[in-house]
Amino acid sequence: MELNNVIWDNRYVKREERNQFNKHKSGFVLLTGLSASGKSTIAHHVERKLFNRGVHAYVLDGDNIRHGLNSNLGFDREDRKENLRRIVEVSKLFVDAGIVVLGAFIFPYYEDREYIRRRFDGDNFLEIYVKCSIEMCEKRDPKGQYQKARAGIIKNYTGISSPYEEPRNPDLVIDTERTDIANAVQLITALLAERRILDVD
Ligand code: ADP
Repeated sequence: MELNNVIWDNRYVKREERNQFNKHKSGFVLLTGLSASGKSTIAHHVERKLFNRGVHAYVLDGDNIRHGLNSNLGFDREDRKENLRRIVEVSKLFVDAGIVVLGAFIFPYYEDREYIRRRFDGDNFLEIYVKCSIEMCEKRDPKGQYQKARAGIIKNYTGISSPYEEPRNPDLVIDTERTDIANAVQLITALLAERRILDVD
């Protein structure tokens, strides 16, 4: 691919200026965990709370992205890699645009999450492990997908026929069998405040 003539033009509005304008910084908050662990539910509640406080926050959700940008991708290892790459690049653009991205993605592989960490290079990347036992996730099964995975109708389903590697050193663990949604939201906004994402220097 010839990229020599493509120049990243960054002369105009700088990210720091956007932060000053918004009165907060931006960043990528990854909520990783099994399907039905509660990632999207929590992400949308955090989004609402931040929005009400005047913070530009936006949920990127695995399912939504697969319906649009990544609709041509499946679930084998190669497609999962490309799914990841596109999500990371889009998220980086959102972060550059000054937004607090709440990414509700399973991202089951340790290696993939480390790739994201490297791509953000210490740039306000937070990893939150939304923890829930596979038994409880199967019991919740809000979209009926576990049932289909058990029946072999859905292949390579994380937790059933494809592994989920638990985060080794996440910034926060939320156990949704013990923490209710309001509490989870509180823990995440407290973490964002502690890491100084909700204010400017
Ligand atoms: P995911 O995005 O991880 O696939 P969802 O948020 O779509 O999961 O679904 C999680 C389901 O679990 C929802 O129906 C939600 O209402 C329910 N739930 C029960 N307790 C909790 C909790 N403490 N935190 C988040 N979700 C919970």
